[in-house]
Amino acid sequence: MVSCSLARMEDKIRTFGTFGDTGKGGVTRFSLSPEALAARAEFKKRMEAIGATVVTDDMANLYATLPGSEALPAILTGSHLDSVKKGGNYDGVLGVLSAMEALETIARERAPHRHPLTAIVWTNEEGARYEPAMMSSGVVCGKFEKEKMLASVAKDVPGLTFGEALAKSGYVGDAANRLSPKKHLALIELHIEQGPVLEAEGFDIGVVEGVCGMVNYEFTFIGQADHAGTTPMKYRKDALYAAVKTIQYLHDELDELDPALVYTTGKISAHPNIHTIIPDEVKFTLDARHYNPDVLRQVLAIIEKIPAEVVGCKASHQEAWSRRSVAFSRELVDIIEKSAQKAGYTNKRMFSGPGHDAQYVADVIPTAMIFVPSVDGHSHCELEFTPTEACCKGVNVLIQTLLAIDRQM
Ligand SMILES: [Zn+2]
Repeated sequence: MVSCSLARMEDKIRTFGTFGDTGKGGVTRFSLSPEALAARAEFKKRMEAIGATVVTDDMANLYATLPGSEALPAILTGSHLDSVKKGGNYDGVLGVLSAMEALETIARERAPHRHPLTAIVWTNEEGARYEPAMMSSGVVCGKFEKEKMLASVAKDVPGLTFGEALAKSGYVGDAANRLSPKKHLALIELHIEQGPVLEAEGFDIGVVEGVCGMVNYEFTFIGQADHAGTTPMKYRKDALYAAVKTIQYLHDELDELDPALVYTTGKISAHPNIHTIIPDEVKFTLDARHYNPDVLRQVLAIIEKIPAEVVGCKASHQEAWSRRSVAFSRELVDIIEKSAQKAGYTNKRMFSGPGHDAQYVADVIPTAMIFVPSVDGHSHCELEFTPTEACCKGVNVLIQTLLAIDRQM
């Protein structure tokens, strides 16, 4: 069986960790920043060195292709090179490095393949500087309007738009190079789990069946601001107390639903937030995720049962945004599972809580994902870590999966 090289993977992880190095074990590498462009240049240089042809599309997504022995659509694999502020050395970039290592291994070992194999780098997955997240896969897969995306303004550089940064990047190519069902057969994205399950349960590989749907609501409670020292308790309309009562209600009810449901009331604000004044306006959010749309419908039913008045305060809620569940290709999920079994790696079928570019691609061509464990579940921080040995298990599953797709599809 063709296997990747631990030394080459280690070199790749170390080298790409220098682009935007924070000096504390992580990187800050916003999309289209000088650091991100340096990482792209390294990708291009290394892919051309193994005989790949590198092109970009009009959103500067990179496609590095090794020719196959027949004129067939290409099999894609890859992820993103951009990071959040003070992010880690694995989120996204590991999927790109794994794609590079898979193609390099196949090229060096002269493993026969009929289809071209393409390593892809998506532009602006994180949305850390220019919102939204998964911007360019979204444009290519018809989820976002390109013109609106080009007008997205940098959060940290006044007046700078994504379109201007894109034009200056030197990576704008032809829209004809975009991912399409005519030219591309399937996509596999390898990614770190970004959660603690695989490590805690002792699995090498996550076989990802899809991406969880999500509901995000904002709740508002209007009470009455009065003096904290003079107003008798029975006359108070304390909006924070109303919010707390509602948070407790949500926990009590949501905990009775499916054990795979995850949720948090992660953001809260109290007005006027002064210790001598009874709060008159409190807002909090609920983010709930599950792979089964029926469970998310039950979450909504629980939200709808919140009365219009809670401990004398006016209660209301509105949907901030939502995301539907995405199911990956069953055929590809089976191939990944078989590839992991053949390699002798323990594996578990699971759903992704976070969003990934692959979820947009899943609506265009057959798609699936491979997860490798995240130590202590850390992600989007400098502590993010996956040992190179564990990364290599993922790459080996990726290689076997690409070759199996080449034979079977
Ligand atoms: Zn990612």
